[in-house]
Parts: sequence; structure tokens; C-alpha cells
Amino acid sequence: MKIDSKEQFASDNYSGVCPEVLEYLIKSNVGSAPAYGNDIYTKMVSDKMREIFECDCEIFFVFNGTSANSLSLAAMSQSYHSVICHELAHIETDECGAPAFASNGAKLLLGKSENGKLIPANIEELVTKRDDIHYPKPKVISITQSNEVGVCYSLDEIRAIKKVANRLNLKIHMDGARFANALMSIGCTPAEMTWKSGIDVLSFGGTKNGMAFGEAVVFFDKKLAEDFEYRVKQAGQLASKMRYISSQWLGLFQDDTWLKNAKHANNLAKFFSTSIEGVDGVHLMFPSDANEVFLKLKPEIEVGLRKKGWIFYNFIGVSSRFVFSWSSTKKRVEELIDDIKNLSKDKI
Ligand SMILES: *Cc1c(COP(=O)(O)O)cnc(C)c1O
Repeated sequence: MKIDSKEQFASDNYSGVCPEVLEYLIKSNVGSAPAYGNDIYTKMVSDKMREIFECDCEIFFVFNGTSANSLSLAAMSQSYHSVICHELAHIETDECGAPAFASNGAKLLLGKSENGKLIPANIEELVTKRDDIHYPKPKVISITQSNEVGVCYSLDEIRAIKKVANRLNLKIHMDGARFANALMSIGCTPAEMTWKSGIDVLSFGGTKNGMAFGEAVVFFDKKLAEDFEYRVKQAGQLASKMRYISSQWLGLFQDDTWLKNAKHANNLAKFFSTSIEGVDGVHLMFPSDANEVFLKLKPEIEVGLRKKGWIFYNFIGVSSRFVFSWSSTKKRVEELIDDIKNLSKDKI
């Protein structure tokens, strides 16, 4: 079998498993261990997460981000409720309706403000537009950190959203598929990014950071976690051999590997975006706060890159997205930069 394993920047999901995670997978692959989360690794990593978040939170493990998001939103709402999110939110654009499916009907109300971020005025407008019984009742705000266009909310922005949430009696969910990248970008503690700023539930991403699979759902508001284990089981998300999710997390937490992985990815995104800024035919579409760069490329460059074998997504119609991960190498980023610069000079 011929395998083309050339490094690409189409997604952080193109990356493999980082060595520390692999090491812990092998470490946990010894003898027998109780199933369904009753093993020592799951206990250890849950305690470690409580230490990282500096609070007594409830933690559950699932296979992927779509289930982390949709099951947590289902736990936060009834079928007749609505969830406020940005129109570009993963829960709206990339989960095949899973939040509505998991909650038996909760509707997403979409905000449209700049840079993929919800703002208080946006939320207020969506919530107060209607207050009659014929419209689903707003119950939850969901924000993504870092978000779908690679931008981070500042702590002040999150706290401002919390103020509105308090006034309007809404809970806040954070989609943290790239939580570590946001932490490294903002430079705060996990506690400050979440419960200290008013987040009630976090989808905590492990896969894009360096695991093979596995995300956590972290409940800072423990009341919302009632019976959540049944929801996870019913949805087919309870791993029988849970130790292989838990031990991967232990690998990420060893020597702050998760933070190092995120920092490496963010640094390369910054290197890439600053290197191609100002190149003719290249326009940076959003501030590149974390590990993603969105470019509007003139057609000659975009077509030329694909001809040279580069793989990347077209995002929201007009942008070419490049994402960096723990495994991205500077050498390959430089190749991409060179190709873009050379294609920019070509006249067709
Ligand atoms: C990748 C991602 C997810 C998780 O997606 P899955 O493919 O279901 O694991 C969730 N939210 C955001 C913003 C993402 O980028």
C-alpha cells in the first residue's frame, strides 16, 4: 500500500497522536482494568482535571466533539428551549443537527457579529425579540474558544457575556475543541477562562491537541450534570474500555504537554500569517489569535497551491483555511510560504 503522508495544514485533525499520548496508551495497556470508567486512569485524570481547573467539577468522557457539545447542550436545555450561538458556530454548521437531535428539539438562534464572536448586544436582541409562548425560550449561550475563524474571546468579553446571561437568566456553554490554543493565546489559567468568568459547562478538546480521540465534558455547575452518565450511555458515547481515553489525557497532562502542543501550533500560525501578510493576492481575513489562519487568496494562488498538492479547506465560501498542530514543522510551513510567494508573482 502506498501512503502519502506528506504534512498538510488542512486541519489539526490531520495530525497524528503525540508521543506522550502514545506512551500513556502503552502504559495503560497492561493487564486488566475495570470497564466503563471504573479504572484507576479515569480516576487519576478526573482528579488531575479538578486540579487544573482549581475546582470540584464533574467530568465525563466522550469520543468526539460533536457529542461533547450536543450532549452538554441537551443537559442544559429542554426540547422547547433555544441556544444562542454565532452563525458560524460548529454546533450550527458542522454537527449535522446533533444539538437539536440530542435535546429532542432545542433550536439554535444565530448571532451574526464580527470575527465569529457573539457580543452582548447580539444576545440581548435575539433573546428579547420575542417573549411569547409560540417561540422557543432562550436558555443557553454557546461560545467557542478559540472560535471557528481562529479568534479568541478576551476574558473581558466573556465576562460581559456573563453579565447579559445573568440578567436574562441564561447558562453559558463553551465549545473548547481548541481550548488549549485559546489558553496559550490569552495567557490565563483554565479557571479564569471558564468558571471564574461565568462558564457553566465546557466541551474540553483533546483530539486536536494530540490525542487519537476523546473529549471531556466539564460541568462547573454540578447541578447540570445530574444523570449525565445516562445521556452519554444512551448516545453510544460511553467507552467500555475507558482507560484508553483516560490514559491519553494523562499523556497530554504530563509535563504540560497539552500547553506545549498548543503553543507550538499557535507559534507556527503566527509565523505563517506574519510571513505572508502583504504578499500580493493574499488577504488575511481574521486576526490569527490561535492556531488557524484564514486567507482570501487570488484564484491563481489558490489553484496553484492545489496543483502543487497542498490540501486545504474552503471555509465560508471565500476563505482558504490553514491549521497548525503539535506535529507541524517549520520546514513545511516555509515550503507553503515559498509556494504562496512564488505563485503570487506568477502572471496567468
Ligand atoms: C473540531 C471541532 C469540534 C469537534 O468536532 P468532532 O469532529 O465532532 O470531533 C467542535 N467544535 C469545534 C469548534 C471544532 O473545530
